[in-house]
Amino acid sequence: LAGRLGDRLDVPVYAVGGFVRDILLGRPNLDLDVVVEGDGIAFARALADELGGRMRAHHKFKTAVVIFPAWESERQRGDNGIPDAAPPALPVAGDASNEATAEAAHRAAERPEQRIDVATARPEYYEYPAALPTVELSSIKMDLYRRDFTINAQAVQLNGAHFGRLVDFFGAQRDMKDKVIRVLHSLSFVEDPTRILRAIRFEKRYDFRIGAQCERLIKNALQLGMMDRLSGARLFHELKLIFDEKAPLPCIRRMEDYDILRLIHPLLKLNPAKMDVLTELERVLHWYRLLYLSPAPEPWMLYLLGLCGNGKYLDVAAVTDRLAFSRKVRQDFLTLRENVREVYNLLNLWMQRDGSMSGLNNLLSPIAPEGILYLMARAKTEDARKHISYYLTRLRGETPDITGNDLLAMGISAGPAYGRVLRRVLAAKLDGLARTRAAQLDLAHE
Ligand code: ATP
Repeated sequence: LAGRLGDRLDVPVYAVGGFVRDILLGRPNLDLDVVVEGDGIAFARALADELGGRMRAHHKFKTAVVIFPAWESERQRGDNGIPDAAPPALPVAGDASNEATAEAAHRAAERPEQRIDVATARPEYYEYPAALPTVELSSIKMDLYRRDFTINAQAVQLNGAHFGRLVDFFGAQRDMKDKVIRVLHSLSFVEDPTRILRAIRFEKRYDFRIGAQCERLIKNALQLGMMDRLSGARLFHELKLIFDEKAPLPCIRRMEDYDILRLIHPLLKLNPAKMDVLTELERVLHWYRLLYLSPAPEPWMLYLLGLCGNGKYLDVAAVTDRLAFSRKVRQDFLTLRENVREVYNLLNLWMQRDGSMSGLNNLLSPIAPEGILYLMARAKTEDARKHISYYLTRLRGETPDITGNDLLAMGISAGPAYGRVLRRVLAAKLDGLARTRAAQLDLAHE
């Protein structure tokens, strides 16, 4: 469709970046980035019309994002899963006269959305130093030259006689064959130090290796203090992407190899004890995900808890400042960490002295899932781990079998007493003292 549109508007259109890399590596990637040699915003507008979606333009950068409802039905798909027709246009909001239209709008609102990023490539003039002649580079070549690594600097033309042609100016094909991460020029990491973390992420994700020259450039940039120049927000964004990877541990180890963790903040430096906790964290997270338990935890919180280890409050606060957390995220993270440390000790006491399910529930229910998984990873004994897992899989979802309405029917007037009574009833239920609704009603009466 993008290719046909390009033909109609008479502009060359390319798929670029990670989408092309992943197709060539045989991996799924639904994030389509498109570059147009021409007016990208006009192209995006036409694409949004065709897809029945909407478009948001960024005129300063001549970029746009097209957002449209994800295709869902077999009917709308061609043989190979590629939609052969645009989905029906979204109904106009507020048109309630037609029931079918309203229903379609409702369904569309529930459907997930897909996005296509569109950028404009303009011809640029590249001035060689020392008065060599100025040369015009093709727009797509210049666009690709600004990218981070050769494997991310490939394009596939989508239209015209050249449909499907792979554009590789920088030896990406060779690097993909040799499984090497390579930058396009020697100032790349100085220009943008986030690329150091990106190099590590791609190396580990694809089981490639950072090339020898590339490694020298990374070390050089680190020595020049480039990590300190990186804003907290960009640094945190890249770290989050690393922690979102399927297996972040190899990336964390690699960061340690380059001494990056210490450069971010000395507290984050890895040691064998932290490594053990992180390994356990990864296992626990995997277990939690396999069970499809909800809510989904934020991996960055878990890994950052692990990397902060037993650090002092002020050092952890300094890490949150380096990563430019918002006030709320900073507060949530610091509170979670303090609560987790407290409950860690209380949990051992509970095992020795109490052992009741209601006691376990009281201890763990105020803690966010990330904190509970962290506690599970740090549990001293297999027994403690089993109890936490029992809380997550069984206790956490439990509620009393009576409600506020039952209390009202008993003549108890609504107020703070409700919470107290219902908590007591739940505790009795969890401890097996009031399993049935009738027993719980009796208890509430008392
Ligand atoms: P992922 O699979 O993790 O989403 P990606 O490379 O597909 O990785 P983006 O981070 O969205 O996804 O980047 C899209 C493209 O933009 C990259 O493939 C690369 O060509 C370019 N790019 C992204 N970040 C940078 C950067 N810091 N410097 C240069 N080019 C970049």
